[in-house]
Amino acid sequence: MFVDHDPAGLQARGLLCRHCNTRLETCPHSTGCAWGDYLNNPPAAHLGPTYPRAAISRKSRRSGA
Ligand SMILES: [Zn+2]
Repeated sequence: MFVDHDPAGLQARGLLCRHCNTRLETCPHSTGCAWGDYLNNPPAAHLGPTYPRAAISRKSRRSGA
């Protein structure tokens, strides 16, 4: 499982499998599909967890981004 986060706000949104974590943002639907509904109402959003900046820095170094 991967911690999914909003790339702009650094808010953790929930836990996703690798497939969903890498393709979630490509969903064109605002509602009526699992990814669209997830993005509209992320299960962890009301808990307020933030994604650690250090983890993002490590990911960026690995990917070269
Ligand atoms: Zn969709």
